[in-house]
Amino acid sequence: MKYYSTNGKAPLADLQKAVVKGLAEDRGLYMPEQIHKLPQAFFDNIQDMSFQDIAYNVAVSFFGDDVDPDGLQDLVYDTLSFDCPIVKVEDNIYTLELFHGPTLAFKDVGARFMARLLQFFINRSNETHKTVNVLVATSGDTGSAVANGFLGVEGIHVYVLYPKGKVSPIQECQFTTLGKNITAIEVDGVFDDCQALVKSAFMDEELNKHMKLTSANSINVARFLPQAFYYFNAYARIKKLGMADNLVMCVPSGNFGNICAALFGHEMGLPINRFIAANNANDIFYNYLQTGKYEPKPSKQTLANAMDVGDPSNFARIYDLYGKSHEKISSLISGATYSDDQIRDTMRQCYKDTGYILDPHGACGYRALKEGLRPGEVGIFCETAHPAKFKEKVDDILGIDIPIPERLQAFMNGKKQSVPMSKDFSDFKKYLLSK
Ligand SMILES: *Cc1c(COP(=O)(O)O)cnc(C)c1O
Repeated sequence: MKYYSTNGKAPLADLQKAVVKGLAEDRGLYMPEQIHKLPQAFFDNIQDMSFQDIAYNVAVSFFGDDVDPDGLQDLVYDTLSFDCPIVKVEDNIYTLELFHGPTLAFKDVGARFMARLLQFFINRSNETHKTVNVLVATSGDTGSAVANGFLGVEGIHVYVLYPKGKVSPIQECQFTTLGKNITAIEVDGVFDDCQALVKSAFMDEELNKHMKLTSANSINVARFLPQAFYYFNAYARIKKLGMADNLVMCVPSGNFGNICAALFGHEMGLPINRFIAANNANDIFYNYLQTGKYEPKPSKQTLANAMDVGDPSNFARIYDLYGKSHEKISSLISGATYSDDQIRDTMRQCYKDTGYILDPHGACGYRALKEGLRPGEVGIFCETAHPAKFKEKVDDILGIDIPIPERLQAFMNGKKQSVPMSKDFSDFKKYLLSK
């Protein structure tokens, strides 16, 4: 399979290049040239298949030209060693819990899949086995998913750059206590400084001669496409309940990678009638749906901070997928946008009425579905984060003391190790050159 750039001015790439480079030369996002429809027999039997087997079938469709069947099966089974259940919240409203992975983040699947795919390419290449170095800047969540996804993967070393004192203690311990092939770098600055250091490193010729550098950015095809697995599994589980006939999928969205993967699933034949993209106060996509104009803005800080995005990177993919047609996009996807006050109200109301504890991101999804669902439809919204990841906020809003799951607790018992770093590129470069 070849991958083209959404900007249309870069050469076609094979999967290996698309994964290692991440972004095309013309700064566009890579798109697969074909999206294959899955056979009807697959959908007829899907309700009796396991999450892993469903995902394997989907993965073959995307990656089967480039990775042999055994290798791909290994990769998928290793990535999906956890459940992603459907939970009934109220009549006709279900939630797809995407937070049962190693760091309780839905980003775990993409991060792990990308790590194993990169390893597959390293093993296959004829080059002398030089370590590949992954640089990732994080304001919290991405760092933990990437670090844990790449943990212990041979031939790869990960440097996680994070702003000192600006990451929550729960998040910090998820990438500073791991050791092995993960190095946490504590930058005396803000998130933008971390990102600038990473960008400068990629552009530095001397550094690139010294070591092999790559990024694990969320626009990478190996990180976003595997998220399609979730939606096939959701369909299977709801079909088993006999509720799959008139299905609406609602996805709390920031960079729109997750919903974009769901839309790819739809193109492969997944029988979902329509989609809702739920936003917090960052309403760029919502406004696009209303006006047909895409106007990026600086991001606003909200309670659902993983969705604080003012220029969603995967918009380019959605736009391309539907031939730049506003009509097609707005007839398949509707939008919603909520303020922090509305998020708080929704969390309280849902807890009071149903007993279900929403996190601030899932709250946007629940509300958008509840307000948008039409008679005769069944809706599923994604719960993208475990509420304990936002313990202080959730406790405060709901007046409860939510227990921290064992898996999170285990990270908190580890010993923090990080390398202090100034925000000057020359210091970071000197450090990397010494490796
Ligand atoms: C990353 C993230 C989102 C947004 O996902 P996108 O793919 O960027 O749209 C939503 N909720 C949580 C908890 C996240 O971590």
